[in-house]
Amino acid sequence: MRIAILSDIHANMPALEAVVEDAREHGATHMICLGDIVGYGPQPVETLARVRELSNGTVLGNHDAAACGLLDTQRFNPFARETAERAAMALSAEDKAWLRDLPYIIEGDRIAFAHSGFYAPECFHYLDNKKDAAASLSAMPDTRVLFVGHTHAQCLFVQDTPNGPVRKLPPEDISLKPGCRYVINPGTVGFPRGERLTADYIVYDTTTQRILFRSLYYDLAPYRLALVRNGYNPMNYWFLSPSARRRQTEQALLHPTHASTFLNADSPFRAHRVTSAHKQMLRIVIVLFSFLLVGVIAFAILTTRTPLPLVSVNPANSLIPPFSEWGHPPTIQTSGDGAKLTFAPETKTLLSPRINLPQPCPEAFRFRFEVEGPEDAQKLKRKRYQTRAIFFCEHGKTKYDKPHPYKKFGTQEYTIKPPQEAVALRIEYTFYLDTPFHVKLPHLEIKK
Ligand code: ZN
Repeated sequence: MRIAILSDIHANMPALEAVVEDAREHGATHMICLGDIVGYGPQPVETLARVRELSNGTVLGNHDAAACGLLDTQRFNPFARETAERAAMALSAEDKAWLRDLPYIIEGDRIAFAHSGFYAPECFHYLDNKKDAAASLSAMPDTRVLFVGHTHAQCLFVQDTPNGPVRKLPPEDISLKPGCRYVINPGTVGFPRGERLTADYIVYDTTTQRILFRSLYYDLAPYRLALVRNGYNPMNYWFLSPSARRRQTEQALLHPTHASTFLNADSPFRAHRVTSAHKQMLRIVIVLFSFLLVGVIAFAILTTRTPLPLVSVNPANSLIPPFSEWGHPPTIQTSGDGAKLTFAPETKTLLSPRINLPQPCPEAFRFRFEVEGPEDAQKLKRKRYQTRAIFFCEHGKTKYDKPHPYKKFGTQEYTIKPPQEAVALRIEYTFYLDTPFHVKLPHLEIKK
């Protein structure tokens, strides 16, 4: 069985829907909510209804307690208090009664769930250190895995021996070991704090004892719209600021959503995926059509005296794959094809896929690229862009080449000298342009 474990949704419907979809794709059949369904966000009613519809168990969060009258909001900061009071006004009496009935702790087969922790759960302390993790483990001696939320940060604590010391590990996918005990925080679905701008949650496979930390990038535009529609002030939400959104774009490119460790070829849930008959039919038609097209082209080549003009998107001597293989976060608006991309104005980052370098690594590469702008670009005040290489070295180290800034459109070229131990690189573009512009597929060649 795979359980999606969600916390701190905070009335953010777009984030919740992104998580629900991702959880389904990862074979989750059950959902547990660790509380704070409402507060901060603009859609408390819809979010509560969705959680009630989907969740197999929910514990009470402090914002839920405030919204249903169980907790005095005087302890909240003014922003939290205001949004909790707005949630209280929006929710029906029936919704509030449902919230009031929520437990502080849910216990399963040697696992348990709480919003803030298991030692005095009604006090809503923040469990963010080894000492508090140990206190929660001591409070629940018969359990093996404790799930908590509340801090909005993904977190993983392990106790290797009964009553032994507690270690803090980085929140990365793990297989739970027999004999060890854990405290795990899935992070926040709907109200990021600090650096992360993602909707975070966990998939727990009870059969394989795998924990998968998921971090999803989702479109924030509908969230902003819901804020405005429901009379909330978007200025109060730091993660909607232009600089935060720019950072999200950069994060999305450099750290794409955690690769799923469930997703190997013999993964059981792959087989469970439903492929509709229509999709199958379409695939067969596409394959047949492709064969036909290849046949026609082969016939044309063989029977035509004058050779066909050779159009090559990606010349064999360039290491760079076509743009169709480059990743874009959803915030980048582009059009074009594998050879040329057109961007709407605004600051943007464009990042090539990881390009594996021949080994031993050549001493130098020639990098040639072209950015096109409007003809009257000379009149523009702001007109800047830059490129740089990011090297991936042995032992997982990342090194950054110095950036090359430009003020004029056109073809540019420079030499990239990778560190000796480089095994791969990515090319990064950053644009600070206030006009629409085009980027042509660059060339990267070994310099002889
Ligand atoms: Zn919260």
